Amino acid sequence: MGFDQDRFLVSVNDGLLCCICRDVLEDPVQGGCEHAYCSPCIHGWLVQQSCCPEDRRDLHETSLRPLSRYMKNDLDSLQIRCKNASAGCQVTCRLEHVTAHEAGCQYDAVECPLMGCSQTMERRSLDEHLTRCQFRRLCPSGCGMPMLSADDIQHSCIAELRQTNDLLRSEMICKLEEQKQDFLSKIVEMNQQHRQEIVALRTTMVELKEVVDVMVSRDRKRSEEIKKIGADKRELTNMLRNFLKQHVLREDTDRPSTSKSKQTSSVV
Ligand SMILES: [Zn+2]
Ligand SMILES: [Zn+2]
Ligand SMILES: [Zn+2]
Ligand SMILES: [Zn+2]
Ligand SMILES: [Zn+2]
Repeated sequence: MGFDQDRFLVSVNDGLLCCICRDVLEDPVQGGCEHAYCSPCIHGWLVQQSCCPEDRRDLHETSLRPLSRYMKNDLDSLQIRCKNASAGCQVTCRLEHVTAHEAGCQYDAVECPLMGCSQTMERRSLDEHLTRCQFRRLCPSGCGMPMLSADDIQHSCIAELRQTNDLLRSEMICKLEEQKQDFLSKIVEMNQQHRQEIVALRTTMVELKEVVDVMVSRDRKRSEEIKKIGADKRELTNMLRNFLKQHVLREDTDRPSTSKSKQTSSVV
């Protein structure tokens, strides 16, 4: 009962383990105390007992209910390897899809369905076996499937084709799931890259802003200096003008009046 923890890609939260078999919950139910168990595990236990195996609180068949939705979601989304991984099956998928995959897994051991033949093989070898099995006889109605016996009354062409169809569908679901996971992990990776780029851009922006601030303050200081130099220049010019004016006035009083107008014009 339960799924072996080794089959999961990451370690499974304790809350998703069966209180009885300590494996990951399979076909789970929950008691009023919130503890969860595999259905067969707890039914077996309640034959002898009438309490929760974990906390010994009262528990009866009638108080068992389906797993809460959030726990079910957590359980369903666990990534699990196919039970035939050791035989070579590379498939991993969500727990909720693994039963469908395994029902059609190409590495699963199957028995030749032909009456009289008892050979066992991996499913992927069955088609080839059926083409050469000594007990082989094809459906006379034209579906092309092998008949299980000479007068196979259970054979229905439609049912055979539907079964093949179902197998293909479950394989497709797993493949789609794998692609979806692939796609999601790529998106996550791209997001991380973008986030790093944004952080780098922000740092660059901060650095640029510092440079601009330095330049602006340097510019402001320079224009203040220029203003000050202008004021100094004006002050100096005024001083010079005043000095010259006084000088000229003094010369005027010292010299004869004939050269007065010429002197003044050359100064201004
Ligand atoms: Zn169990
Ligand atoms: Zn309990
Ligand atoms: Zn498989
Ligand atoms: Zn056979
Ligand atoms: Zn047929």
